[in-house]
Amino acid sequence: MDLRYTADEIAFRDEVRSFCREKIPAEIRRKVSEGRGLGKDDVVTSQRILNARGWAVPHWPKEWGGQDWTPIQRYIYTEELLQAAVPLPQQFNCYMFGPVLATFGNQEQKQRFLARAANLDDWWCQGFSEPGAGSDLASLKTKAVRDGDHYVVDGQKTWTTLGQHADWIFCLVRTDMEAKKQRGISFLVMDMTSPGITVRPIITLEGRHEVNEVFFDSVRVPVENLIGEENRGWDYAKFLLANERTGIARIGLTKERIQRIKRLAKEMPSGAGSMWDDGDFRGRVAEVEIELKALEITQMRVAAKQGRADSVQPDPASSLLKIRGSQLQQAATELLVELAGPFSLAAPQRGAGANNPPGGFDWVDAAAPSYFNNRKVSIYGGSNEIQHNVIAKGILGL
Ligand SMILES: Cc1cc2nc3c(=O)[nH]c(=O)nc-3n(C[C@H](O)[C@H](O)[C@H](O)COP(=O)(O)OP(=O)(O)OC[C@H]3O[C@@H](n4cnc5c(N)ncnc54)[C@H](O)[C@@H]3O)c2cc1C
Repeated sequence: MDLRYTADEIAFRDEVRSFCREKIPAEIRRKVSEGRGLGKDDVVTSQRILNARGWAVPHWPKEWGGQDWTPIQRYIYTEELLQAAVPLPQQFNCYMFGPVLATFGNQEQKQRFLARAANLDDWWCQGFSEPGAGSDLASLKTKAVRDGDHYVVDGQKTWTTLGQHADWIFCLVRTDMEAKKQRGISFLVMDMTSPGITVRPIITLEGRHEVNEVFFDSVRVPVENLIGEENRGWDYAKFLLANERTGIARIGLTKERIQRIKRLAKEMPSGAGSMWDDGDFRGRVAEVEIELKALEITQMRVAAKQGRADSVQPDPASSLLKIRGSQLQQAATELLVELAGPFSLAAPQRGAGANNPPGGFDWVDAAAPSYFNNRKVSIYGGSNEIQHNVIAKGILGL
């Protein structure tokens, strides 16, 4: 296979590249680049600019706002957004709920929710994991009991990312308590303002409020909020999780970080010169860059295969991309902390005088929080240990 882009693909790449840099506000891209938390407004602003161009949900069916792009075009689009430090379209709306609804929902539900999800008029969150059900998701216990034309939902979800912003939650709930555990699960959506829903923050290592616990106490949910068939939710969840894993390698994001590290290293004083004069440091940067190139080629091979008619199942190679991609994202944030050195301590701990960075080095304040925040990438979307199991079964045939 030929891994070089065609002339049309290069033209497409340049079009996406200039759009990202010219239309998405520089301040939002700076926050992404430095690994600072984004506000809800930042995500909404960026997504609406993409949506107005028809680029918020290119992978959806055309009638619901998608584009007839090839897998390589989709790959180029994602990589260009990441390299320009543009926030990717809100993942729960665009990569999880939207594709499930477009594939398994009824016409009324599609009309009610899809356009609003693409434009981020509604913010969706994902209610899958529970305190006793993460890797072993099918053990979930949150139950929905039919009562006339409603379900009554009781239970708890956890790690609900950005649930504090959410208007809606899509959940896996148990609707048949007797059936084999995968068989008794349904896919139900709930309005977050429903009486009986409580959201409690979980503060992560770096001190941010990104994840939550969500409690359901006799929440009454209209039966029309069931997506697809009752007790078929596990099939829809598998479809959704395969979508979640594809593209999780975020190679463009790490590329952008490595470029930044190279630039910042030349400015960061060290001994008589700069950090870039340190051969060991340069060697570690080169190591990540080489690994990243190898991963990029693998990702393009997987993308090219997705374009062929003989592959309808998610490629188990997406597990490999997830493992290596998350390791390299973490390695890049480690290099940033090394580069910031003692300045990566939080300002109050640095004290006064020489412990403080020179002017124009604001980025050092975000280095450690971004490092801590990135510990999550080897856990979510199915932990890396679980991905090893998928590779053992799907690729090595063990
Ligand atoms: C920052 C963050 C955001 C998240 N956002 C969401 C969200 O929005 N919505 C949502 O529903 N969930 C979310 N999750 C949950 C995430 O999907 C789970 O954390 C993940 O699936 C692991 O489950 P667990 O935390 O229960 O760990 P466990 O499943 O209890 O695993 C604990 C450890 O055991 C290992 N392990 C477990 N089973 C096996 C096995 N069979 N073989 C080998 N090793 C194994 C795991 O790899 C892990 O190291 C998020 C998680 C994080 C950290």
